[in-house]
Amino acid sequence: MARKFFVGGNFKMNGTIESIKAIVKNLNEAQLDPNVEVVIAPPALYLLLVREHLKKELEVAAQNVFDRPNGAFTGEISVSQLQDSGINWTILGHSERRTILGETDEVVASKTKFATEGGVSVIWCCGESLEEREAGQTVAVVEKQLAALKAKIGDWSKVIIAYEPIWAIGTGKVATVQQAQEVHEAIRGWLKTNVSDKVAEETRILYGGSVNGKNCKELAKEKDIDGFLVGGASLKPEFTDIINSNL
Ligand code: PGA
Repeated sequence: MARKFFVGGNFKMNGTIESIKAIVKNLNEAQLDPNVEVVIAPPALYLLLVREHLKKELEVAAQNVFDRPNGAFTGEISVSQLQDSGINWTILGHSERRTILGETDEVVASKTKFATEGGVSVIWCCGESLEEREAGQTVAVVEKQLAALKAKIGDWSKVIIAYEPIWAIGTGKVATVQQAQEVHEAIRGWLKTNVSDKVAEETRILYGGSVNGKNCKELAKEKDIDGFLVGGASLKPEFTDIINSNL
């Protein structure tokens, strides 16, 4: 089965009603490659606004979700609330949540289990710091994150993996095509060995970290790069160029 190219836009804690409506309008009016699955992730406060205005072919993701049913969890959003609002996706384990908000591999894995079992698909993020890369630990770090996920989930069909080297996020320092492909291949190899041939073959692995309208085409050609998770550039008109990387 061919893996459908996937482009996610992670707005992070950016935007206003006005600017987000403008991004949605731009996406609604653009000619987008019909062979690409597009999902945008605005801040939680704007999820419903985006779902209401964005054309139906495109999906909306939360940037986080909690791993408990509804109840006394001040400040959190539940999986069933996402579904109730027509939000079928969430990002989980973004490095900003891991490093700034202290989410461990286990917390991220637990959230991923809760979301996927509740019917919400997950863009699950992993990646190494600069120190870890320089120490030659890149693949070991990613494999440890994957192992924590495998310990919690059985069904991988609702999981997309985003490899995002922390040193490339928001820094303008994109991984080279070789650096990215090498890790993507290692992730696919890990899935083959530790999960199954089918999961390795079908799971989409995105690259994230300073992807822009210029560097996307080269990256998109690599055999194990199945799309992108885009931060800064997803707020700009060039996001449509990234969606159309293969045209
Ligand atoms: P960036 O962010 O594209 O701004 O580097 C990517 C991400 O954090 O998902």
